[in-house]
Amino acid sequence: MRLNPKPLIDAATLSIRIRELGAALSRTYGGKHPLLLVTLKGALYFAADLSRAITTPHQVDFIRARSYAGDQSTGRVEITHRPEISLRDRHVLILEDIYDTGQTLAAILDMVGEEGVASVAVCALLVKDVARVSAVDVAYKGFEIPNHFVVGYGLDYNEGYRELPEIRILESETLA
Ligand code: 5GP
Ligand code: MG
Repeated sequence: MRLNPKPLIDAATLSIRIRELGAALSRTYGGKHPLLLVTLKGALYFAADLSRAITTPHQVDFIRARSYAGDQSTGRVEITHRPEISLRDRHVLILEDIYDTGQTLAAILDMVGEEGVASVAVCALLVKDVARVSAVDVAYKGFEIPNHFVVGYGLDYNEGYRELPEIRILESETLA
């Protein structure tokens, strides 16, 4: 695998867009004391920045769903960590790093839907231009991107590259 040297989305562009999302969410959720449900680990960096761009008081908790091994979807989604804060009667905003086939979000929405929430919405930093396996409603989108495997700003390849401050494309090496 080879890391494309040119960022797909640089750090300054990420920061500007996240401030815009924060402003929109502050208006929508003003006074509702929303619960940001962060999908580990990919959305961690996004969530840390977005939370600080939301000016209405809110709480943060975590959920972990695993669907990927390497760069291929296994098609199976397992919830491996559940939120500790009760979701009952809460306005829940799911923060996801990337909306790809939709299977992870569909599984998370199923779980959240069983908890008696006041409302649930999804905010995804990246939305891939692909055919979905499970279509879900993503109310808040950071960026639409072409169908490449991307890393950085929380997104990993086998637990590497999360710490990159920008989004980069990871390309498979072509044999000469
Ligand atoms: P979905 O279930 O929508 O196919 O995939 C969602 C999950 O797959 C994301 O939370 C992310 O962990 C992983 N994923 C999908 N596309 C990419 C990608 O381009 N790069 C990385 N690093 N992870 C991805
Ligand atoms: Mg993930």
